[in-house]
Amino acid sequence: MILIKEFEFDAAHHLTKYHGKCEHLHGHTYKLVVMLEGQPNFEDMVFDFVELKHMVQDKILSRLDHAYLNDLLPNPTAENIAVFVWKELFPLVKRENSSLHEIQVWETKTSGIIYRGE
Ligand SMILES: [Zn+2]
Repeated sequence: MILIKEFEFDAAHHLTKYHGKCEHLHGHTYKLVVMLEGQPNFEDMVFDFVELKHMVQDKILSRLDHAYLNDLLPNPTAENIAVFVWKELFPLVKRENSSLHEIQVWETKTSGIIYRGE
C-alpha cells in the first residue's frame, strides 16, 4: 500500500546555475507530497497521519516555509529540494512495516519533480 500526505509551503529562491527568468529572486507556493510504502501494522495503519504531519512540520517545513531557500541549498531547484527532503525524512519514517517511497515537489500546479531516492 502507498500512504500519501500533501503539504504546502511558501518560499523564495533564485537559481544560481540557470540563465533566464528564474535566476532572479522570486517565490513559489510549493506543494510537497510525501508517500510511504508499507503494510498495515497492528493498528491497521501503514503510518500514523498525525505523526507524519508533525514530523514533516518539525523537520522540514520549519526550515523551508517562509524561508530564503538559497540559505539552505546552494542551488534550490525543485530537484535539489526533493533530494533534501528525501535525505531528511528517510531515516525518520523508517519502520518495520513501512518506508519512504516517493517525494514530490511542485513549484507550480503544472511543474513538479518526483524523486524515489535513486
Ligand atoms: Zn522558481
